[in-house]
Amino acid sequence: MHFMEIKALDEQYVLQTYGRNPVAIDHGKGATLWDTEGKEYVDFTSGIGVCSLGYANEQWAKAIYDQAMKVGHISNLFYTEPYVRLAAKLVPAAGMSGVFFGNSGAEANEGMIKLARKYSFDKYGQGRATVITLKNSFHGRTITTLKATGQDHFHEYFFPFTEGFRYADANDMDSLLSAAGDDVCAVMMELIQGEGGVNPLQKDYVQAVAKLCAERDWLLLIDEVQTGVGRTGSLFAYQQFGVEPDVVTFAKGIAGGLPFGGFMANGKCRNVLGAGTHGSTFGGNPMAAAAANVVLDTMTPAFLQEVREKGEYLRRGIEALGSPYVSGVRGMGLMLGVGVQGMKHTELKDKLMAEGLLTLTAGSDTLRLLPPLVISREEMDRGLAIMKKVMA
Ligand SMILES: *Cc1c(COP(=O)(O)O)cnc(C)c1O
Repeated sequence: MHFMEIKALDEQYVLQTYGRNPVAIDHGKGATLWDTEGKEYVDFTSGIGVCSLGYANEQWAKAIYDQAMKVGHISNLFYTEPYVRLAAKLVPAAGMSGVFFGNSGAEANEGMIKLARKYSFDKYGQGRATVITLKNSFHGRTITTLKATGQDHFHEYFFPFTEGFRYADANDMDSLLSAAGDDVCAVMMELIQGEGGVNPLQKDYVQAVAKLCAERDWLLLIDEVQTGVGRTGSLFAYQQFGVEPDVVTFAKGIAGGLPFGGFMANGKCRNVLGAGTHGSTFGGNPMAAAAANVVLDTMTPAFLQEVREKGEYLRRGIEALGSPYVSGVRGMGLMLGVGVQGMKHTELKDKLMAEGLLTLTAGSDTLRLLPPLVISREEMDRGLAIMKKVMA
């Protein structure tokens, strides 16, 4: 099908909830994509931080195919091998104690919030259910995770929202302390606010929050849906912040493109959710777990080192453009935010796309780059050349 036919069918039959780009993607290889009209793009998006191994990765595709030909799905009333193999790699590598598998980021965060509230209920009884989250955060689009998201415009239309959230300014302990109270059970945060504009938290702030949580028996909940699974150059970003979460979520990049996510709990929290308290029909799906095993096997120390080096290469390449439209580059590993000035960030994204480079936006003035972790120097150079052409 050509683009115009696809767009017409979308408009006729699909709820119009997305502001889509005027492009229909057909196929890809590595970090390069082609649309239905045959136009080629360098991809600095990976979906939105999902396709960590790029497109048409043969090992990944074969693992999914092989598993589909064995058993594609069976209920969680039975054991299967792919998810236990994954758990046995993921949990020790993260320094955690146990994992629950679900399907998406919002769902993972919902489960994490449930765990925090039950931890507190089991130990202290009712009335200690409030979760403090940070302003400018993003935690998902369910009724509860919308409320957990610290941005007012996500708290519209869908009333009544789940109660029990308060918001603190990022990197500000005084603000956190003024949100504190006897009703608090947890603090929940992203270590680099992704949708909010690729804003890394300060390391000393994150450590101070962890210390306060430990003192007050609040759970430290870290949302690594975007930052996790190698994106920042370590398996999880908290490993570079010198803190250990009580519970951590992951999703986007974990299965390289299949819907998958979940949360891990430390020793203190591993028995909070017992039989019958949480579940998911599709969670731990064998095909998604087989795909995730390929992703996780790729995340060797050498590979993660390369992610950090590629991130530096891209950052320096963008800084070297000396573009008047760039106010600065933030981020870690291959999660970069380019501050845009003198042009709207969405306009810049559109111009880059017209020249064959796909990027994302975030916040109000940020170009967000989340390339496949396997992107080659040659592909980064092609992307930088397009940036130079558009932004010089
Ligand atoms: C994308 C994202 C989510 C939501 O994930 P979905 O899979 O879209 O539900 C939650 N938290 C963070 C930090 C994210 O980046």
